[in-house]
Amino acid sequence: MTRKEFLEKSLIMGIGLPFLPAALTPPYRSPRLVFPGLPTGFTGKVIIVGAGAAGMAAGYLLNRHKIDFEILEAAAVYGGRIKKAAAFTDFPVDLGAEWIHVHPRVLSEITNRPNAAAGVETMEYNPQTIMTWKKGKLRPRNYIRYLYSEWKFKRGSWFDFFEQNIVPEISGRITLSRPVTEINYEGEKVLVKTADQETRRADKVLITVPVRMLQKEQIRFTPALPEPKREAIGKVLMGDGIKIFVEFREKFYPDILAFGNVFKSLTEENKFVYDAAFNKGSGRHVLGLFAINEKASAYTRLGTEEQMIQAFLAELDTLFGGKASANYVNHIIQNWSAEPYIQGAYSYSFDGRQKDIVQAIAEPVMGKLYFAGEALSLDNQAMVQGACQSAYATVERMLGARVQAGRE
Ligand SMILES: Cc1cc2nc3c(=O)[nH]c(=O)nc-3n(C[C@H](O)[C@H](O)[C@H](O)COP(=O)(O)OP(=O)(O)OC[C@H]3O[C@@H](n4cnc5c(N)ncnc54)[C@H](O)[C@@H]3O)c2cc1C
Repeated sequence: MTRKEFLEKSLIMGIGLPFLPAALTPPYRSPRLVFPGLPTGFTGKVIIVGAGAAGMAAGYLLNRHKIDFEILEAAAVYGGRIKKAAAFTDFPVDLGAEWIHVHPRVLSEITNRPNAAAGVETMEYNPQTIMTWKKGKLRPRNYIRYLYSEWKFKRGSWFDFFEQNIVPEISGRITLSRPVTEINYEGEKVLVKTADQETRRADKVLITVPVRMLQKEQIRFTPALPEPKREAIGKVLMGDGIKIFVEFREKFYPDILAFGNVFKSLTEENKFVYDAAFNKGSGRHVLGLFAINEKASAYTRLGTEEQMIQAFLAELDTLFGGKASANYVNHIIQNWSAEPYIQGAYSYSFDGRQKDIVQAIAEPVMGKLYFAGEALSLDNQAMVQGACQSAYATVERMLGARVQAGRE
């Protein structure tokens, strides 16, 4: 089921995505995420562009099959939209992906190991106090606790999961701070040029950069990418994204607070605040803000982080009678729109039929260029496991296994 259908169905059921009850969660079906075997005689070199979830998962699979590869990452750190603040409080804070939106057995599927989550314990996430802010009033909506639960990491984070399970096998192959600026695939070998003017050669290149980077043409392709692919790339909406975490002296807020109509607000998943320390075994009081698209733009367009935190505290003060400013201790802001190699949250909607758009983007070019990433998963789009799923399917396809365009 696509995320859109997933959201639509949950809307019909009157329940939002982060508020989807385990009992009603659609059965997790993604056969392509089952770690693929690769019957291949391929002996060439693969360059992977981007060391986010998709790029790292692709490297992990190639490494298992002893295929020569290198990952070029533009940023000074790997992880992409998986990122943690280790020292902000007494538990790691997920600055990007945080929830495990499907059953945690997906962690074993990603790693192809039965005990993948052993080092990073997961927990059922079932907030008990739920409120809405609507027409200037806070209203309790605690009945939602009977409908909803999903999963999170108990003390660790998505970043820890990758660091413990995937990174040890591929870290020697990741080159950081190497933005790819040009890819020339005219000749037999693909030439990959980085910002420091170095050129590397590969037989195949897997591009896992966020769709926004392709839209902004941050990488110059020679020859230019085929027109249908460029058109399809332009049809993905990836809006702004921000997370703010604030530590307070006391907890004056509910486990989750939605804005406006509870179902609409949560289903559209544009903005909510929540107790980020919920069930983490922490003695600290940490509130999180999650906002994407225009709800995020309301903060990101303010410019400075100081303006953003002041605006957020003022908003909380209005809701909670001044308790935010009075109890403020510390904060951290992750403005995804300001990350130079990400520039937004994630693929949110498609201007046309999602399947057609995804297939057009995922279509390999001349057997040399391949594409993967969260936007290209039909079953788990905009999620970490979707990025991995798309990477595994694309690597299979790259190495000759029979996988249909865009299908996973
Ligand atoms: C605020 C927020 C909250 C989220 N919450 C959740 C959640 O709770 N659960 C969930 O499952 N998912 C969540 N997601 C989505 C999840 O984080 C993404 O779907 C996933 O991490 C994307 O992985 P990716 O590999 O496709 O892309 P990315 O992680 O963006 O990786 C792409 C990499 O390419 C690099 N790159 C870009 N340009 C270049 C270049 N020119 N040369 C070399 N490298 C380049 C980037 O630096 C980046 O490291 C959230 C995302 C955001 C932003």
